[in-house]
Amino acid sequence: SSETSNRLKACAKDKLSDQMVELFEECQQQDSDLIKKEMCRSQLQRDIQRIYAVARLYLTGSSMNGLGCRSSDADLCLVLKGNKRHDPIQVLSALQRLFRSLSYVERTQLIRAKVPILRFREKGSDLEFDLNVNNTVGIRNTFLLRSYAYADLRIRPMILVIKKWARYSQINDASKGTLSSYTLVLMVLHYLQTLNEPVVPSLQRDYPECFNPFMDIDMVPEGPKHIPPYLSRNQLSLGELLLGFLKYYTDFRWDKQVISVREAKALPKTNFREWRNKYICVEEPFERNNVARAVHEKAKFDAIKAQFAESCRILHERKDLNAILPVRAII
Ligand code: ATP
Ligand code: MG
Repeated sequence: SSETSNRLKACAKDKLSDQMVELFEECQQQDSDLIKKEMCRSQLQRDIQRIYAVARLYLTGSSMNGLGCRSSDADLCLVLKGNKRHDPIQVLSALQRLFRSLSYVERTQLIRAKVPILRFREKGSDLEFDLNVNNTVGIRNTFLLRSYAYADLRIRPMILVIKKWARYSQINDASKGTLSSYTLVLMVLHYLQTLNEPVVPSLQRDYPECFNPFMDIDMVPEGPKHIPPYLSRNQLSLGELLLGFLKYYTDFRWDKQVISVREAKALPKTNFREWRNKYICVEEPFERNNVARAVHEKAKFDAIKAQFAESCRILHERKDLNAILPVRAII
């Protein structure tokens, strides 16, 4: 809103911060983008209920967590309840047949990843969807991230700029062995939680009842409605936080530490199966597995570290966002 915009501009004390606010305002998801996604979701849910009567479809990811761009895809989770264990590939194959008969869907493609997804587009728009089956942790963590996104005014612009920087720097693509957007978001939150004066606390620690991992899935979107805004004593500007973020991860001991947003600290890297032989360890806040497991090649890990170090050096020298992210190239 223009209210948020004015408050952000008022606390931007330097050129770098101004540039970050400007980029955020150009790129952030608009209400009209969300309305389009929501209309498509509800139509899809109606059509899917013709073959799975009790199915429910949830929008997740950056469309819902407050950290979306105009160009972000729409992530969907299909929830099939009941005591029958559904094989996701079978369900997605059935949906693929159904979707081929729907006039508003095109280019469906089944992707057999660890979490299998059906990818498709809405006909005539460039809106892309990724649909999974019963990966309900994605619903829980979407509403956790949403609560973080609105805990402090600086968090949304900070994360959006870092996502754009990582995308531009070619280190934001889990299918190519680099960082997923989700991993990046957790890395930013961890940095903000571990400053001398934290920008945010651990919301799971402070509001356990809002983020109970066993909460009924229908209740999850309602759970975090009761969280008051966090009043941080940290006064750093967006630009100072961005510089600090790059420095923090340039110096980070990847071989010794695990990033935990759940605990708001770096945990020692133990011999636990999920951390063993992994270059980057970022804990999923609800399931304690490693969300950065896609980074499994030494060369990609080195490229990620080099990108942090190089951008850190350049930005400290130039204090101009264009030096690490030519804004013209990405809007
Ligand atoms: P973008 O704007 O780039 O699409 P995004 O916030 O939607 O970013 P993705 O990495 O596409 O991020 O992930 C979409 C959602 O899927 C996340 O918000 C999260 O809910 C869920 N998710 C992704 N990866 C994991 C994972 N390893 N474990 C659990 N949930 C995950
Ligand atoms: Mg997404």
